[in-house]
Amino acid sequence: MRGADGTLVPVDFSLKPVHDEAGDVVLLIPEGRVITEMVEAETRLRESVAALAEARDQAEVANRAKSAFLASMSHEIRTPMNAVIGFGELLATTPLDGLQREYVSTMQRSGERLLSLIDDILDFSKIEAGRIELDEAPVSLGTLVVRVLDEASPAVGTRGIELGYTIDPALPARVVADEKRLHQVVANLVSNAVKFTAAGSVDVSVRLSDAVEGQTAPAEAVWISFEVRDTGIGIAPDRLAAVFDPFVQADASMTRAYGGTGLGLAITRRFVERMGGALDVESVLGEGSLFRVRLPLAPVGEIRVVMPPRRESVLSSRRALVVAHDDESRRALVTRLDRWGLDIAGTGDPAEALAWIVAGTPFD
Ligand code: ADP
Repeated sequence: MRGADGTLVPVDFSLKPVHDEAGDVVLLIPEGRVITEMVEAETRLRESVAALAEARDQAEVANRAKSAFLASMSHEIRTPMNAVIGFGELLATTPLDGLQREYVSTMQRSGERLLSLIDDILDFSKIEAGRIELDEAPVSLGTLVVRVLDEASPAVGTRGIELGYTIDPALPARVVADEKRLHQVVANLVSNAVKFTAAGSVDVSVRLSDAVEGQTAPAEAVWISFEVRDTGIGIAPDRLAAVFDPFVQADASMTRAYGGTGLGLAITRRFVERMGGALDVESVLGEGSLFRVRLPLAPVGEIRVVMPPRRESVLSSRRALVVAHDDESRRALVTRLDRWGLDIAGTGDPAEALAWIVAGTPFD
């Protein structure tokens, strides 16, 4: 409407109906309200939303560019690093005195650490840049777990940690997955478990699991969980969620003792999510932790592992004694030996094993 001074003003205008007894509209009463302030506020709001959206788009583009830069830089750094480490190895094979040997070995250790740091940063920046491609092919679950544990065993060193695993016989022997990434996921959890456990055991258990809530799996896939359980230092409840954040460590003093970047779990979780699954953790401070990965994986070929029949062989009817205090490890060993046709007596109690031997039961 035009105001008294001739300027245009925005007005919220409506007509209010008045009805007669029969319900018919007999009169329309006009009502107007000047809404200059409201219109101005709305315009300002619209402008700032647009400005925010633009800033966000720019930030996203900048962020992706930065991540892409970091990804290619990390790649460029790897090449000379490999040369440094390689020539360090060669140098170590030449005649050196004690001090020189020590220097070379420090150089090599630092080189290895730097390289693994670069690997983490490379992975992380690839994830941030949305450039994780999955390279899927048939993978044997058993082989993968055994390989992870083999690789972890040097890190156990002289600590008396028992490394064990169980694979649910109901699992498909092979599934379709990105082997390198899946290996990386399990290996990272196992290496953390070994790192933060002074005594006791680290166990990997792979079994069929329930689905991750809210996640839909491809029709041909089954849900499989990979659980890594340790009897280590555990994580305080208030730090539990944060361990998956990049560059976060549950306990700074521990990190000084063990090293690490705080990137491992952040990367692991992103990989797992990229594969359509979930990674979670339960832990009791001072008692241990359980990291669990659940993934939808499509079986290759038949779903059930066909247990080979007991075979007649040189091992048939040999008697074996299995002593292992960890129930799961013992069961795994007994199952395996049984399939080779051995007669097995198994116990978790060394005294009982000794009693059997003393009783004269001959074991081969
Ligand atoms: P880092 O390179 O520091 O190990 P991670 O992302 O792998 O980084 O782990 C983050 C933090 O989570 C670790 O610094 C540690 O404090 C805690 N953490 C991870 N795994 C375990 C575990 N099995 N037991 C106790 N603490 C753990």
